[in-house]
Amino acid sequence: IPRNADPNIAPAGWRNVLLERGPEGWAAAVREHRESRGVLLTDTSMRDAHQSLIATRMRTHDMLKAAPATAHILQNAGSLEMWGGATFDVALRFLHECPWKRLELLREKIPNIPFQMLLRGANAVGYTTYADNVVNEFVLEARRAGVDIFRVFDSLNDIDQLKFGMDAVRAADGVIEGTICYTGDVTNPAGTKYTLDYYLNLADQLVAHGTHALAIKDMAGLLKPRAATLLIGALRERFPDVPIHVHTHDTAGTAVATQLAAAAAGADIVDCCIDSMSGTTSQPSMGAIVHSLHGTELDTGINPESLLPLIDYWDGTMQLYSPFMSTLRSPSSEVYYHEMPGGQYTNLKFQAQSLGLGSEWNKVKNAYAAANRALGDIVKVTPSSKVVGDLAQFMVSNAIEDEHTLVERAESLSLPSSVVEFLQGHIGHPVGGFPEPLRSRVVKDKPVIDGRPGASLAPVNMNDLHTALREKHEGCKITHRDLLSAAMYPKVFDEYKAFQGLYSKDVASLPTRAFLAPLDVDEDVDVELSQGNVVHIKYKAKGELQPNGMREVFFEANGIPRVVEVRDTNKADAGKTSKLQIREKADTSDVGSVASPMSGEVIDVKAKPGTSVKAGETLVVLSAMKMETSVAAPCSGTIKHVAVIKGDQVDAGDLLVSINAVDGAAEETAEGAAEPVSA
Ligand code: MN
Repeated sequence: IPRNADPNIAPAGWRNVLLERGPEGWAAAVREHRESRGVLLTDTSMRDAHQSLIATRMRTHDMLKAAPATAHILQNAGSLEMWGGATFDVALRFLHECPWKRLELLREKIPNIPFQMLLRGANAVGYTTYADNVVNEFVLEARRAGVDIFRVFDSLNDIDQLKFGMDAVRAADGVIEGTICYTGDVTNPAGTKYTLDYYLNLADQLVAHGTHALAIKDMAGLLKPRAATLLIGALRERFPDVPIHVHTHDTAGTAVATQLAAAAAGADIVDCCIDSMSGTTSQPSMGAIVHSLHGTELDTGINPESLLPLIDYWDGTMQLYSPFMSTLRSPSSEVYYHEMPGGQYTNLKFQAQSLGLGSEWNKVKNAYAAANRALGDIVKVTPSSKVVGDLAQFMVSNAIEDEHTLVERAESLSLPSSVVEFLQGHIGHPVGGFPEPLRSRVVKDKPVIDGRPGASLAPVNMNDLHTALREKHEGCKITHRDLLSAAMYPKVFDEYKAFQGLYSKDVASLPTRAFLAPLDVDEDVDVELSQGNVVHIKYKAKGELQPNGMREVFFEANGIPRVVEVRDTNKADAGKTSKLQIREKADTSDVGSVASPMSGEVIDVKAKPGTSVKAGETLVVLSAMKMETSVAAPCSGTIKHVAVIKGDQVDAGDLLVSINAVDGAAEETAEGAAEPVSA
């Protein structure tokens, strides 16, 4: 906090403009500012930067520490992007903290800078289409909890989906930032799909639908400086009164140049993040942009020197999260070939490693490009990027070399459910329509959705949901925000609540060092149990593992020796008390011996011993990280043996089910027999 400033009073910023003048007045003021004063910055450090670099693992604890200084140093920023995208489910799923509380706590400490969230239109903050009432209520509650600006996009640039999301924001009285996802290359004269005309036409529709601002969302960092000049210049000329906001990633290393070009071409607000969280798959460095524009007619209004303490703080904080750090150490222009969004690059690499595909990472990248071609060259951003990523991992696991082989064998493959559902129209309609013959071969006689997917979904009855949750989590208070979390992520929410029930104190107050990894002997941490009530904890030793799987843990709390008994969930030790699972491998020479196509968890078992089954029927459903796959019967016959139960962990090649194939069935599918996954 600057020396002459009062740390308890945040100086007036752009949120004050918004509060006084409303969304339309804000838009006019932003345009006027660009013409007379300079360009505004959006700081993505608390959302996209950590989503893109450390798999979204930044905890509220660490953000709150930076909040008061942020309110002062970035008082002239256009906005802080700090909510939505993947932050919502990661908070519940991995950080065991409430995403709503993060929003509220930060709002308290930063009342002067507009808060911005990333809203996946009809997909809200999830990976699927939600009922209209869920999305509407979610947006309303986000607005109440502190979000000012909603960047509304659709993962396929589907205008019907976009309009629905924009209407939800309008009803909540938020700033609508109608968003165009950028892919391809507008400067490529050979490009026929994602051309300048295509983008201008989409912008026309967003402006006609009453957007307060237009955003260009370059999620993979494909917008080269020359493309920014061309695209932003054309948009500026066409819409003189609409603020233009540009988002990009530095994957190839061009992002600072791109944002400077965008600003020069007329952009009002450009996205960047604190230097120590910038670069590669993240946003461009704020310091680089602030210094570059300092003293020019595009000055950002941010004092370059004042940024240094924030840069230092985030530098130190990022070190804590090094286990999650993307291993991309330098820019990589190969992004122009695989077109993987920044956040997905980190996440997919992390997933590939945990699926045992780590060494196959190069294959995943090539397969990603091939999967995109197979799906018709679609816009790739969550959730459509997940469809491409799932298909890419599937192709690698099953040694499917290219898109031609995939299309050829499409009818007999157990494709990930996300891919099947995409082809059924569950997440909307891709630019230029669905790919054929792939769609017909995969969808077969499954139902397809023609219009906006949400239009055909029954509303979720919030009262019924409330009753159900109260029964499930006896004794726990279920708030309206809990209801919305549960409507988005039922299973994740249940686990989050169960975890909360397990510990008497909120783990959100643990220092990140102690949250992420076990303490060493004699290592100590300070934990704030409640405001001002800090306890100094020093880890001393652990006792022998008991036959019941429990262990005594010795520590000191404020110097006083204490002991607690905890369950040892460590895998290596757990084997001593529960029998080690050694799984039978499937017999690749037997068509009825059905193998797991990947490592993961069994989440549903449909096959029952003794029953008859037809080729193509689902036997087992697997989940690996966020990917769900149905394993289908490779042949008709009788189920001889089911080797797994719900909850089992399996590796690729493990036996799931064996089938006594009926005569002739083996012949039908003989060509697939050598491939454990073909069905
Ligand atoms: Mn992004």
